[in-house]
Amino acid sequence: MKIRIEKAACVGNARCAAVSAELFPLDEDGYIAVEEIDVPGGEEKLARRGARACPERIITIVEDDD
Ligand code: SF4
Repeated sequence: MKIRIEKAACVGNARCAAVSAELFPLDEDGYIAVEEIDVPGGEEKLARRGARACPERIITIVEDDD
């Protein structure tokens, strides 16, 4: 599973990082720091929660094909 983020549309409210600061790292100004994240095994639920937590709806979950 991967997470894709429309980084340019981030408004920096840190809702994603409140769910998991490790999965959703922020830059020094409080905006999301990455555009794509490989979700480590076992953290899929957390990734989905983080995606739902973004009020801007710019976090997309990309499921693995297999
Ligand atoms: S929750 Fe969405 S808008 Fe807020 S910091 Fe995270 S990616 Fe940006």
